[in-house]
Amino acid sequence: MVDLLPAQSHSWQKVESIALEHFSRAGLQEIRTPIIEQTELFLRGIGENTDVVGKEMYSFDDRGGRSCTLRPEGTASVARSIVQHGLLNNGPQRLWYRGPMFRYERPQAGRQRQFHQIGVEFVGLASVMSDAEVISVAWNFLKDIGLNDLTLEINSLGSNEDRNIFKEELRNWLNQRFDLLDEDSQKRINVNPLRILDSKNSSTKELLVDAPSLSDFLSNESKTRFYYLQELLDDLNIPYKINNNLVRGLDYYCHTAFEITSDHLGSQATVCGGGRYDGLISELGGPKAPSIGWAIGMERLIILAGDAILQSKTPDVYVIHRGEKAEKFALNITCKLRSANLSIELDYSGSTFSKQFKRADKSRAKWAMVIGEDEVSKGQLLIKKLIGKEKGDNSEEYIFFKEDLDQLIKKLID
Ligand code: ATP
Ligand code: MG
Repeated sequence: MVDLLPAQSHSWQKVESIALEHFSRAGLQEIRTPIIEQTELFLRGIGENTDVVGKEMYSFDDRGGRSCTLRPEGTASVARSIVQHGLLNNGPQRLWYRGPMFRYERPQAGRQRQFHQIGVEFVGLASVMSDAEVISVAWNFLKDIGLNDLTLEINSLGSNEDRNIFKEELRNWLNQRFDLLDEDSQKRINVNPLRILDSKNSSTKELLVDAPSLSDFLSNESKTRFYYLQELLDDLNIPYKINNNLVRGLDYYCHTAFEITSDHLGSQATVCGGGRYDGLISELGGPKAPSIGWAIGMERLIILAGDAILQSKTPDVYVIHRGEKAEKFALNITCKLRSANLSIELDYSGSTFSKQFKRADKSRAKWAMVIGEDEVSKGQLLIKKLIGKEKGDNSEEYIFFKEDLDQLIKKLID
């Protein structure tokens, strides 16, 4: 598990604030669910035959002997909460969430055991329009972060009936080639043959080129739905590729499945994964409520956003002071300026003015404010421009009386 250090937290905040902006424009509301759920929720909501449930969950018995699990993803918890609180009585729910998720995986670049997702769920909406809208929220958000070389891949998993017919066909085909499959895929034939389609094993991948394709098993209704989604994406100028092998790991998906990938992430290429899950809410005891959503992995997003977003926040003013009386004055003015929405860093070293100035430069503050015994006795403040001046240029220095706070603030935000 990984610490998020101060040098990185600013980029996270920036990415999250852009996300919030997009979510609020799209009329989404935030939902926060607990990090721990009853294990049963994920068994039912994700499916026992998935990697997530079968191999990756952090589960334990609590002191009351109940099996609990650190959530491996957000959708099941959001669905549980919607059912438990009867939120659908108020109509369809357009929600977003963020927070840590836990999966026992092999840690590597872009893959951690505690990682963070930011996600969106549209619950109680069946129309293809909602598929396109949900995808557009993710796409536009990622664009706004400055990511330009993303690929959106889409597929249709069809209805449950389509998929069941296909599963049988695929299982037969795979059984005839059992010995040619990798061990993992051999194990999956009976429990979850669809998952074999997105196997990472190269010889299995080669073999699968000739496998039956789900697209040939879609009913006319499912096909029409998928074509309409493509039409809507075309209309929104969102480019996409059709990937018939995109199946997603979780059991409850149907019809639209999609992923947004980048070439800059190595083998952990998927930054956003999502799809339609019409059966989940009723599976958890709620009403029939067709739904669609996605989740973005924050760690991968931050890797992609890179330097553009990585600049740490710099203060507006660095306050330099020396002497006991100056200290009180410095703290007082610092708090007043913060109340006026300025960001202020206060020196704590008590060292010489020149050393404090070096630290001020290092902080990349726009201004230094200097308070010595002299300033205190005169009731004055000296400010000095640090950013955007030539070395040795002292032309941008100003003196204010402490009573003229408004003028000082005006100068500082100029
Ligand atoms: P992968 O194929 O990379 O394991 P997944 O299909 O398991 O992904 P989802 O369950 O769809 O992933 O989760 C959505 C997103 O969350 C992923 O696209 C990825 O960006 C991120 N994610 C998933 N697992 C991890 C992890 N262990 N560490 C970091 N990010 C992750
Ligand atoms: Mg995974």
